[in-house]
This record gives sequence, structure tokens and C-alpha cells, in this order.
Amino acid sequence: MFSGNGSRGYTAYTDKNVLNHYLTLDLPDDHFMCEYIWIDGTGEGIRSKCKTIDFPINSAEDCPVWNYDGSSTYQAEGSNSDMYLHPCAMFNDPFRRGNNKLVLCDVYKCNKEPAESNKRWTCAKVMEAAKGSCPWFGIEQEYTLLDFDGYPFGWPKNGFPGPQGPYYCGVGANKVYGRDVVEAHYRACLNAGVKIAGCNAEVMPGQWEYQVGPCEGISIGDHLWISRYLLHRVAEDFGITATLDPKPVEGDWNGAGAHCNYSTIQMREKGGLKYIEDAIEKLSKNHNKHIIAYDPHQGKDNERRLTGLHETSDIHDFSAGIANRGASIRIPRQVAELGYGYLEDRRPSSNCDPYSVAEVIVQTTVLD
Ligand code: ADP
Ligand code: MN
Ligand code: MN
Ligand code: MN
Repeated sequence: MFSGNGSRGYTAYTDKNVLNHYLTLDLPDDHFMCEYIWIDGTGEGIRSKCKTIDFPINSAEDCPVWNYDGSSTYQAEGSNSDMYLHPCAMFNDPFRRGNNKLVLCDVYKCNKEPAESNKRWTCAKVMEAAKGSCPWFGIEQEYTLLDFDGYPFGWPKNGFPGPQGPYYCGVGANKVYGRDVVEAHYRACLNAGVKIAGCNAEVMPGQWEYQVGPCEGISIGDHLWISRYLLHRVAEDFGITATLDPKPVEGDWNGAGAHCNYSTIQMREKGGLKYIEDAIEKLSKNHNKHIIAYDPHQGKDNERRLTGLHETSDIHDFSAGIANRGASIRIPRQVAELGYGYLEDRRPSSNCDPYSVAEVIVQTTVLD
């Protein structure tokens, strides 16, 4: 029997040393490989394909519109399956390097209307309407590494690790699993031009977090989606996977969220706490609307996570508090002491669409 990657039994393994020969071949220096990246019909899956561009490109606007087969991405019927890719943000490619690029696209149907999975379109309109408030976002992306067999990475195959406690921000081979992926991903983000703010090991072993931000307006979605692409792509190189499932293991194990830290220019200035409190008052009146926007299944995913246990609030209740990690909205202690800063919405699920999250927060707190 083949056992690909030695004792691990991962059969799709290829030898990266063989690849190295091809990575050092000379390529024409006026041709660029552009990886077009988009969100599929699930609202959480990421797809990409590559295009050679043989003219100078300085931004996403210079990249041509392209298309793909939407019947293979849960986005169209086979009889009329062309979908359009409109480039909207460009990043460096940390895998191919040089002048090669990652090109984030939003998706349009053949009738030129945005695809159902295209949450960027309405988000961009809301951000344009609210740009005078200079909304900033910082999202804490939690995720779980899985071995090739779908089991959490580093967990014993015939049981469970010891109870939660020693793992959060831990160090040591018995405390954290998969740091190579985390380190490689952090560097790939910086190289690509993604505004990664930090990272840490999480409460459940094999679970990690990184933060993106602060980013103004629509760019939070662009940067977070590219950071997720980089995460999956880096993990692929290591032969393991990253899941954004909000509750990957049932029981006494923390789930995964995407806390959204948010401020407007008024909140960030002296006396801003009053504006933070006003925003919380508005958020309290729109709890259900926000829950529907905070995961790709209108709250169904978050139902498994927002139980009121494991540092979460109950999905059915709205609450807010200073330094309270069991509340829907937390005002960080330092913000309360300074009297200005930002609020943290702890409700978004790890697999949320950041465009939807940012849109509804600005809609509720600035535009309504
Ligand atoms: P936590 O204490 O909840 O773990 P983190 O340090 O993980 O918080 O994340 C805080 C996030 O808040 C970072 O992404 C940071 O960029 C973001 N942030 C900081 N200041 C602001 C602000 N004024 N407005 C919006 N986001 C902010
Ligand atoms: Mn955090
Ligand atoms: Mn966290
Ligand atoms: Mn947080």
C-alpha cells in the first residue's frame, strides 16, 4: 500500500524538492502570473485560477475582467454557466514572488447583476455613503488546523487532549500544534501586503487566531478574504487544512469566532466613549438583524457556537459590558479608561463574510 508522506499516510504528498527545479526556471520578465481569487456559491469557499498578463499592471483596475464556469462552484446552471470576475483588489503573490500578483475579484452573473454570494457590492455602497465617518475595522480571525484525516491537528488519534487551560498563547510541543503554518502564514500576509496585526494560539489546542486591521471601509473585507486564501494555501503546502467552522469539536471545547473591532472617527477622538455608547444602544435594537448577517447560514452556524458558554454570549440575547468576554459587545478596559477608542462585537462567526459584517455594523450605527 502507498503511504505518500511516510508514516502520516497522507497520500497526495509530492516532493517539494523536485518542484524547486521548476521554481528557479527563467521566465519572461514582461509576463506576470495573476491568480484571480473569488468567493464561491457557499459564501465561504474560496476558488482561484491563474492568468498570464503580458502588459504592465499597477492596480486591480488594470487587470482584465475574466470568467469561469459557475455550474462548478454552486453558482449557476450548466446551460448558462458563465460568471464574470471583476478585479477589485491586488496583492503581491508570496508563493510565486517577483511581479506576480493575487487579484481579488467580485462575481457577477451573465445579466451583469452581482451574484448572490457577492456581498462586496452592497458593502461598497454602504461604505461610500458612510465615508465621512471614516469607519475602521479590525477582525480577529480564529481557525482550527485539521490533519489530513479531518481530525484536529496534533490531537491523539484515539482520544482527546487534556482539558483546556494550558493552550491559549502557549509555548511548547505539548501545548501548541502547527506553529509552522502560523509563522509561514504571518509572513505570507506581510509579504502580500495584507494588514495583519498579530497572532496567537487559542484556547482549544490546534486552534489559532490572527488579526487583520485596522482597515478603513471596504478594505477590511478585501484584506481578510486574501488572508484566508493565504491561510488555506500555506496549510496546503504543509499537507494539512484550516477550517473556519465555528464549532469544530462538540463539547467542552471553545468554538471559533471573528470578533469585529469597530470605530468611527468620533469614537476615536477625546470624548468618544459617548459615541461608542450611542452605537451600542443602536446595536441592541438590531440584534437579530446582525445575527443573520454574522454567518453564511443566517445564524444557523453561530447557533452551535453562541451558547453563553466558552467566552460567548447567548445567541438569543444582546448584552454589552466593559471587559466582559461573555457579552455580545465588549468595551475593552483600556478604551473605558481612556474615554475613547473602539468597541468589539464578539458575535460574528469565524466563517462570516466580513463584507456583510462591516456593512450591517455601519448601516446600524451610522446610516440608520
Ligand atoms: P482581543 O483583546 O479581543 O483579543 P486583539 O488584540 O486580538 O483583541 O484584536 C484587536 C483588533 O482591534 C486588532 O485587529 C486591531 O487592529 C483592532 N483595532 C485596534 N484599534 C482599533 C480601532 N480604533 N478601530 C477598529 N479596530 C481597531
Ligand atoms: Mn484576539
Ligand atoms: Mn481569540
Ligand atoms: Mn477579541
